[in-house]
Amino acid sequence: MSIRSPFQVHVGNVLRTGNARRERRSAPLDDLVVLGTEVPLHAEVVVDVELQFVADTALDAVGTVTAPYRGTCRRCLRQVEGQLQVPVRERFEERFVEDETYPVAHSQIDLGPMARDTVMLELPRAPLCREDCQGLCPECGADRNEGGCSCAAPADPRWAALDQLRDP
Ligand SMILES: [Zn+2]
Repeated sequence: MSIRSPFQVHVGNVLRTGNARRERRSAPLDDLVVLGTEVPLHAEVVVDVELQFVADTALDAVGTVTAPYRGTCRRCLRQVEGQLQVPVRERFEERFVEDETYPVAHSQIDLGPMARDTVMLELPRAPLCREDCQGLCPECGADRNEGGCSCAAPADPRWAALDQLRDP
């Protein structure tokens, strides 16, 4: 038997009576890392779903998966932080299909693998701190968001127009 997961839920009552039930579970999940972004090690991943009867061997989990993330801006290397809140609708069934549905076994389901799959799909790859991040100067490494550097990088044309106004 596997170690009991904090995301494990007994669903015998839902399958037997057909009554939907709300479940909210939260716990850290290891190894939620993609290129440039991760869920911090001890951060809580929250699963908040309604378990909806489908058949006496199957149900749907409908709700959200929420997790904080942090990463590194791909242009300026500043820290980027955010919160994922992803809608989910997943089928759990006794005769589950690998990569399509999740198992019901002994009237139990584990919402953990669903939470993991959802977060891994939605974590932003190679994030930006903001859409128009100017990045680092390739010559001197200065952060161009902080202003110019002494390198001969082309000036922003909007500034050139202002310069002309200033010295006619
Ligand atoms: Zn940036």
